[in-house]
Amino acid sequence: MQNKLNRSRVKSGPDCEKIELADSCGVRLIYCQDCQVVELEIGAVCVRLCPDVIQRMANVMMKASLELEHLAAVSNKLPTQARPQMIH
Ligand SMILES: [Zn+2]
Repeated sequence: MQNKLNRSRVKSGPDCEKIELADSCGVRLIYCQDCQVVELEIGAVCVRLCPDVIQRMANVMMKASLELEHLAAVSNKLPTQARPQMIH
């Protein structure tokens, strides 16, 4: 990893200093220091996000994951009411 002293104002280019934050299950997160943007790659889809959005997204994902676990647990315990209820 090299430190760039001369920062160009070019938004996105091949010279961008990119750091891989995470790479697993087909999801890759790359931070571009030059643009101060996090690139979220899901398969062929790439989304550019503000770094502070990542934290919020992680919280939302965690919430969704817990909700899914809860739904799975409920439907396992109550096979007669396997259909998930709408939750507001
Ligand atoms: Zn960049």
